Amino acid sequence: MLQSQILESLAKYPWFIDLNQEYIVELTPYGVYGRYRLPNHITVNIQRKPNEIALTILHEVVHLRLESEVQKKKLTHSQKERMVEEEYCRLIIGKP
Ligand SMILES: [Zn+2]
Repeated sequence: MLQSQILESLAKYPWFIDLNQEYIVELTPYGVYGRYRLPNHITVNIQRKPNEIALTILHEVVHLRLESEVQKKKLTHSQKERMVEEEYCRLIIGKP
């Protein structure tokens, strides 16, 4: 089942997820790969492999974490995506 496959993929990055933080993840067959909405809402497109969906969820988690800094610094969309991608790569690679 797709949900458990996604959770299995997410479980490969246990240091990435803060278990004290709750996220609401909505699965949809439509639209862009991923979206986020403050404070903790994530929407992902499920027309992809479970591991790709999981990685998109993690990308959106980083967006939610960095959004207040993004707004404070008044970053452009591309500056924001660069900052999110850097933090995402650091977290994906960097086991503590
Ligand atoms: Zn993004």
